[in-house]
Amino acid sequence: MYPASFDANEKVVRVNVSQRMERERDEAREALENYKAESIHTCHEQCQRPMCVLRRERDKAREDATNYYAKIGELTDSFLFLQREAFEMREAIIATLEENRHLADGDDCTLAKLKSAVPGWK
Ligand SMILES: [Zn+2]
Repeated sequence: MYPASFDANEKVVRVNVSQRMERERDEAREALENYKAESIHTCHEQCQRPMCVLRRERDKAREDATNYYAKIGELTDSFLFLQREAFEMREAIIATLEENRHLADGDDCTLAKLKSAVPGWK
């Protein structure tokens, strides 16, 4: 039972103070946990501190991304080289067919294999 002098306003004030103290307690706990996590310690490859686990995962992801970008660069270079080589071969085949049109006169002619490499050539 509340004392006779207790009124609704005082109850609101007590609730507010209580909530503020709980919030400050929670903030202090979080700050302490952060301090513990960030403090210097003997770290190693199997360290299970969340910050250390995350740091290793981040480093591994960065390394993987760097390797993937390098691989994409290599593959792009290979693709461009092969594309250029295919273009030059096609040009050489067409030039050969043009220069030897008299030998490219049927489906079983001397240049049939070259003709089949450039189906659109006439
Ligand atoms: Zn650690």
